[in-house]
Amino acid sequence: MTTSTTVTDPHDEACPGCRKTVGVRQVLATPPGVYEGACSGCGMGWAITTVNPQPYLDRLTAAVERLTAARSLSRRLHALAEEAPMITNEELRDRLLALADRARALP
Ligand SMILES: [Zn+2]
Repeated sequence: MTTSTTVTDPHDEACPGCRKTVGVRQVLATPPGVYEGACSGCGMGWAITTVNPQPYLDRLTAAVERLTAARSLSRRLHALAEEAPMITNEELRDRLLALADRARALP
């Protein structure tokens, strides 16, 4: 379905060709993702799409979770390094192996 509206509000989209808002027409092609514009002043037509930000937010969230998990692991490793002189080799080995398991399980 295609609908057409004439832009009268001066704050609306300006024509990318002549920078004027007078005579600019928005043709809503597939709202809310895409709209097309047309300028009766210079004859330019254009289309603007809105990128769905969700995949990027999901990726950013995953990256932050990975960083948080890695930082937590790093803190445990530092703590273990400080305790190392006070614990037995077996315990040190076991705890290092446990940390290695956690590192492998990082998201
Ligand atoms: Zn124009």
